[in-house]
Amino acid sequence: CGIVGYIGTKNVKDILLKGLEKLEYRGYDSAGLAIADENQGDTQIVKEKGRIATLRAEADAADLDGTTGIGHTRWATHGAPSARNAHPHQSTSKRFTLVHNGVIENYEELKAEYLADVELVSETDTEVIIQMIERFVTEGHEVEAALRKTLSLLKGSYALALLDTNAKDRIYVGKNKSPLLVGLHDEANVVASDSMAMLHITKTFVELMDKEIVTVTRDGVRIQDLEGTEVTREPFTAELDE
Ligand code: GLU
Repeated sequence: CGIVGYIGTKNVKDILLKGLEKLEYRGYDSAGLAIADENQGDTQIVKEKGRIATLRAEADAADLDGTTGIGHTRWATHGAPSARNAHPHQSTSKRFTLVHNGVIENYEELKAEYLADVELVSETDTEVIIQMIERFVTEGHEVEAALRKTLSLLKGSYALALLDTNAKDRIYVGKNKSPLLVGLHDEANVVASDSMAMLHITKTFVELMDKEIVTVTRDGVRIQDLEGTEVTREPFTAELDE
C-alpha cells in the first residue's frame, strides 16, 4: 500500500499514476486518485479494485485535468476490496477528499461519539477520519485546527493526504507509525510513502515525524505539531537512482 501526492505546474494525472506504479512492489488490492481542478468545483475521483493498469485505463477515459492531486494503493484492512471501499474517500459535502494507509483502531468508538447522525458510504475505518474533519469544520474550526483535533483523537497508524475544494492550492498530510515524506522541487512539491515513488520529480525530501501535520503548497511546506506549534526541519537529498 502507498500514498503519492503532487502540487505544481504540470498535469498531475500521469505523475500520480507513475508514482503509484513505483509503489506497486508494496502490495495492494485497489488503487485510486483524486485531482483538484482550478476550473471545476468538486474534486474528481477515479478508483478501482485491482491493478494500476485498470486505474490508468479508467483515468485515461475520464477527462481529468488539474495540477494538484493525491493517489493511493490500498491493502484492505476494514471492508472488502471494492471500488466503493477504495480510496480516495470523500466527506458527505464532497468538500474534503482523503487517502489513508494504516489502521484506525478506535474507529467504532469515534463513529459512535462524533458521527452517529452521518451516513457512511464505505465500510472502511478511513471514512471516519474524513467525516470527523468535516464535522469539526462545520462546527467552526479552521481546517488545520479540525485536522489537528481529528488526528489527536485517532488511535492506531496512519499516513494520510487531504484535499480541500475550498483551498486547491494545498495538500495537508500527516502520519503516525506509517511512512510518509514530502519532496521539494522548484515548481512543485510532492508527497510519498517512499522516496522511490517521486524520484522522477525530486531527490530532495523532508522527513515527517509522528503526529505532525504538513501543509504542502506549490512553493513551500509548513510543519506543525498537533498543538499547532511550528516545526522547522532541514531537507535531505536521497542518494538513489530512479
Ligand atoms: N485501513 C484502511 C482501509 O482498509 C487503509 C488500508 C491501507 O493501508 O491501504 O481502507
